[in-house]
Amino acid sequence: MQTSKQSMIGILGGTFDPIHIGHLRAAIELSEQLPLSEIRFMPCKQPVLKKTLVANAAHRINMLHLALAGYKKLIIDERELQRDTPSYTINSLQAIHDEMPDRIIALILGSDAFRDFDQWHRWQEILNLGHLIIIPRPHYDLPTTGPLAALLHAHQVQDFNVLTHERNGKIWISATPLLTISAREIRKHIAAHLDVRYLVPDEVLKYIVANGLYLS
Ligand code: ATP
Repeated sequence: MQTSKQSMIGILGGTFDPIHIGHLRAAIELSEQLPLSEIRFMPCKQPVLKKTLVANAAHRINMLHLALAGYKKLIIDERELQRDTPSYTINSLQAIHDEMPDRIIALILGSDAFRDFDQWHRWQEILNLGHLIIIPRPHYDLPTTGPLAALLHAHQVQDFNVLTHERNGKIWISATPLLTISAREIRKHIAAHLDVRYLVPDEVLKYIVANGLYLS
């Protein structure tokens, strides 16, 4: 459906185990380049597809608060931590849509996460609720065959402004290169007693050390 230009919010879901400067730089750059009124970091409780979590929800949320303090446009959405059921993105997007029916929703995904997108619960319905913004991540090329390539072919637009005039159904790929930083590498470094300064914000690093996180 075509609309007049409306306020758009970005949603960045993830485990944030821990949040690192790759997440932060991507969010800051998108919030500067695009007309997003806010970007919500939405930590999941039980990732459905991925990996096991290492830090519990309370630690992950505390680190998010430390990292995002002072950034007005970067906020935390704790709804998935408050549910006991698996973190299905479709349910969270539906709830956000119901709360703010006049806002356009853009789900932000790294290209690594997009490569699993067709395994997500009710993935074909996600574009009915909003748009997708994909941030290319080094070593994770976008699919060129299969259902996700077809999805890109059908929905990708080159001009971000299209997303502000349509309520849903578009995919836009950011040109900003990402920092090659992953939470997994950071956890491995900490377990090996290597220095992770400048990979996570200083306050987050102090928290990790004070709480003995990721040592094993
Ligand atoms: P892990 O290494 O444990 O898999 P991660 O670093 O990928 O974790 P997540 O919390 O799983 O972090 O990622 C949340 C979202 O942020 C995903 O969409 C992911 O693609 C994206 N993301 C992860 N790392 C970066 C990065 N360096 N730059 C931009 N986005 C990133």
